Amino acid sequence: MPLEPQHARPTIAPNAHLAYNLAQNHYSKRSVLVIVGVSKSEIKVHRKKIKITGRVQGVGFRPAVYRLAVQLQLTGLVYNDTRGVTIELQGEESKITEFVKRLNGTDAPPLAQIESFVTFDLPTVAEEQEFTISPSDTGGTPASRVTADIATCADCLRELFDEKDFRYRYPFINCTNCGPRYSIIKTIPYDRPNTTMSVFKMCEQCGSQYKDVADRRFHAQPVACPKCGPKVWLTDNKGRTIATGTDNVIAETARLLREGKIAAIKGVGGFHLAVDAFNNTAVSRLRERKLREHKPFAMMADSIETIKQHAAVSEQAEKLLKSPEAPILLLPKKADSTTLGTGDSAIAASVAEGVNTFGFMLCYTPLHHLLFAEGIEVLVMTSGNISDEPLIRENDKAIERLGGVADVFLMHDREIHRQVDDSIVHLINDKAVLLRRSRGYIPTPVLMRQTSPQEIFAAGADLKNTFCFVKENQLICSEHIGDLEDTEVYHHYINSIEHLRGLFETRPKVVACDLHPSYLSSQYARSMADVELVEIQHHWAHIASVIAEYGVDGPVIGLACDGTGYGTDGAIWGCECLIATLDDFERFGHLDYYPLAGADAATKEPIRPLLSLLMQAYDKQFDLGKLGRLLERIEPDHTKQNIICEQIRKGINTMQTSSLGRVFDAVAAMVGLGNYNHFEAQLPMALESVADPNCDQQYDFEISERTILDLRPMIKQVVADVSKDKDKTVISAKFHNTLAAGLLEMAKSARQAKGLDTVALSGGVFCNRYLTNRLIRLLKEDGFSVLFNCDFPANDGGISIGQAAIAARRILKRG
Ligand SMILES: [Zn+2]
Ligand SMILES: [Zn+2]
Repeated sequence: MPLEPQHARPTIAPNAHLAYNLAQNHYSKRSVLVIVGVSKSEIKVHRKKIKITGRVQGVGFRPAVYRLAVQLQLTGLVYNDTRGVTIELQGEESKITEFVKRLNGTDAPPLAQIESFVTFDLPTVAEEQEFTISPSDTGGTPASRVTADIATCADCLRELFDEKDFRYRYPFINCTNCGPRYSIIKTIPYDRPNTTMSVFKMCEQCGSQYKDVADRRFHAQPVACPKCGPKVWLTDNKGRTIATGTDNVIAETARLLREGKIAAIKGVGGFHLAVDAFNNTAVSRLRERKLREHKPFAMMADSIETIKQHAAVSEQAEKLLKSPEAPILLLPKKADSTTLGTGDSAIAASVAEGVNTFGFMLCYTPLHHLLFAEGIEVLVMTSGNISDEPLIRENDKAIERLGGVADVFLMHDREIHRQVDDSIVHLINDKAVLLRRSRGYIPTPVLMRQTSPQEIFAAGADLKNTFCFVKENQLICSEHIGDLEDTEVYHHYINSIEHLRGLFETRPKVVACDLHPSYLSSQYARSMADVELVEIQHHWAHIASVIAEYGVDGPVIGLACDGTGYGTDGAIWGCECLIATLDDFERFGHLDYYPLAGADAATKEPIRPLLSLLMQAYDKQFDLGKLGRLLERIEPDHTKQNIICEQIRKGINTMQTSSLGRVFDAVAAMVGLGNYNHFEAQLPMALESVADPNCDQQYDFEISERTILDLRPMIKQVVADVSKDKDKTVISAKFHNTLAAGLLEMAKSARQAKGLDTVALSGGVFCNRYLTNRLIRLLKEDGFSVLFNCDFPANDGGISIGQAAIAARRILKRG
């Protein structure tokens, strides 16, 4: 009897729901399932070969196979190969069937994600006595050589608080199913001597577990214990030791945090700056010292129950928070969840002002668990850096750079080789959507349906930069790098490219970058010698990231909405309706151009796009005097207002743009939400936060025959509403509803002209939950199928994936 087709569906431990969900996504998008089993044998002993691809290396897969085979009295062998894992099994047919069932179910290692599972019949081997793990097949490149950093697993957590365990209260307990990986690896292969754990000599007890194939710590490279592994200590802000010994260090740190002190805590991917989230004075002090006045802080909580006191946590949200990736999840604030007081059990108002969400994560290292067990409920846990510099990972540098910010430093001597920020996720249409793809997700490759004949490097964008390599059928995306404008970030970018290139042994001869003439990432790409350069339009790359993620052929109707991207006509694009495949795109429609004065200043000062939009809307009737009251709140300096108007009229330092992001800025400023973007999208986020979800009204807009979206009627109506002192919650909702309706009309017009009914959404504007949820609903109600980024950010963090996918297609096509 042939084996039943096995739907590759690993069973996941209770804390591994995200892996499961992501795996599910992958099956629906890129399911590869081939069963070639034909059994014609009459004899009792059978032999099968099973080839498995997916995340099956570095996750304890071979030991799990070994244990199961031995238990079922099967002989044979298992080894890693270039695509995943290959197993040969010999024994009774019923046992083999049970093996396949259990490996796809209860016996799969928690971190495994099986993508395909293929079986073949083999002739039996005489006198085979045992099952062995054979050395890796050395031909070619191992498919997934390095795995991500994973949150403490349930087994390790239990041992951490078990007095009888020899790792009781050990801050670095880990096993094959959890602990640091990517952040500690220096070079391949992923073996202990190539990690920052090489300086710690394993004791006998750890060594015997490491060597025992039946043990949970078999080949767990960072395995350690209090006797042989890293240690913690506490210093003051000059680096002088003030406490040693785990218990002292933990108790003292907790005490100081409760007193309102700022602690720098060394974690997995770098330092965090921590402070009591209930203490408004302490949080404000952290803001001042870190030079981060406005941007919301992320928080870490001791339990789901604690998070539920402050934010709305859906079932899906709970799964994400408890997942092995343990990301920061943006959750709706509960009403009255903040306070201006001190020592209360409400979140300090200064943690996250101007937004309607809190960013929460759960403890994800044993050190966090020990610290929070001292009666701490919620800490602000923000990146250990100044302003937008790269995360700090070295002890010395932490004292040097953060000595003026933190009062104390919780240090350890497990070196961090790669800094990795916390990942950020939110829910769109009840699906997990990554806003920042870093710790827990990096460097797990995403598999393409086809193998690229050449290796590719994609340089990404300048804001929220990530870069990407294509090797064989893998898209290997970097962690979040940051905004390249900062010199330190730019150096970090260059170093990171070299590091990842080494880890994946790739020397690409094809290089993709943004069309922008002055992006630093593009300049870097253009400076590379002996490569074929592919320059790709920004919004096409956005839509391509969705096409690549879902593995569709297209063409799709691509709605790409963001702040700025360089267009093929030299204008600044930002609200585009593209008809796109990975081969090509056509600009089908866009937001009507308006002139934007002041280059960089225009992204910070909303008065600039606002004056442009007002001048365009009122045309000859435009009168600065009549708009005086409205404009004065935003820019009291009349001379400056006049200069900007003159600039726009004469076209001095002025660009034509279809940026939707700047329209958000203008409307946010009109309703009184601020007159400056202190960080990217501050005003748009504030505008989204106040939108009344129960308001269904909208403003007027027009769409021309050439699918040019005209928002002039809306701008005038907003001015009227503002001058009538209409509530900003209503104006904001009407504004969002208008955009959703306008984008829907663009999609309908593309459908009518091209006969397409799949819409792909991408670009930073779709990080807006209100707009995106509403637009998805409207599109679906109108019969469209809707694709939107989940595994990669819709913001510029996803650009490198789109660039890589387009370049890969180009190479494939020419063969
Ligand atoms: Zn573990
Ligand atoms: Zn040990």
